[in-house]
Amino acid sequence: CGIVGYIGPREAYPIIVEGLKRLEYRGYDSAGIALFDGNDLKVSKTKGKVVDLEERVEKEITKNGSVGIGHTRWATHGVPNDVNSHPHISNSGELVIIHNGIIENYESLKKELISRGYTFKSDTDTEVLINLIEDVKKQENVKLGKAVQIALNQVIGAYAIAVFDKNKPEEVVIARLGSPLAVGIGKDEFFIASDASPFLEYTKDAIYLEDEEMAIIRFHKGIKIRKIKDDSLVDPYIQKLQI
Ligand code: GLU
Repeated sequence: CGIVGYIGPREAYPIIVEGLKRLEYRGYDSAGIALFDGNDLKVSKTKGKVVDLEERVEKEITKNGSVGIGHTRWATHGVPNDVNSHPHISNSGELVIIHNGIIENYESLKKELISRGYTFKSDTDTEVLINLIEDVKKQENVKLGKAVQIALNQVIGAYAIAVFDKNKPEEVVIARLGSPLAVGIGKDEFFIASDASPFLEYTKDAIYLEDEEMAIIRFHKGIKIRKIKDDSLVDPYIQKLQI
């Protein structure tokens, strides 16, 4: 039920883990993280608390990497277990997603994807969404941002998502409908979170995405916000947080 992401020059891991702890009040049953270190996409996830995730990470992956996304899950589709925890990876192993919310039409989308040869490890609606994005990206031969947009226009439900492509490691795509999502704007760095608490110590400049908006966040290049439905550009409104 919480999202934290980072893209910038710092180590992402401590920012994400501390951020997830600040979002614990939202309630959750599992936690997970994806980190990119310039070569490898590393994923670690577990049923349980953020401290359980920290233990798991110690055993499973190295903690370096300056791009990352982390998640706390409140299960809606599929029981709370390690496999159903987020992040979820697409069939190609290239795309990774974290998601808060519900994809209501996931069953029909899943059937369609299975008929096209996709396989699924988890029982979640979220794993359907990341493979839908992958399918669109391949079928339509479009970039990640466009693929996310086309896929979301086929989705009924509610979401806050962050998506990452290991072939485009300087970029994170986020989108919101019905679940909150804020972006902290630092000096040449960006923080993504369900609310501002994970990044308040780093920056007081924040953009709150509105419903039906998506953003492409690029290291060194900035943020571009668009309406998911009609693709129109939205002027970023940067708020100065007082807290
Ligand atoms: N529907 C997703 C799942 O069950 C996301 C739940 C959440 O909001 O954490 O995995």
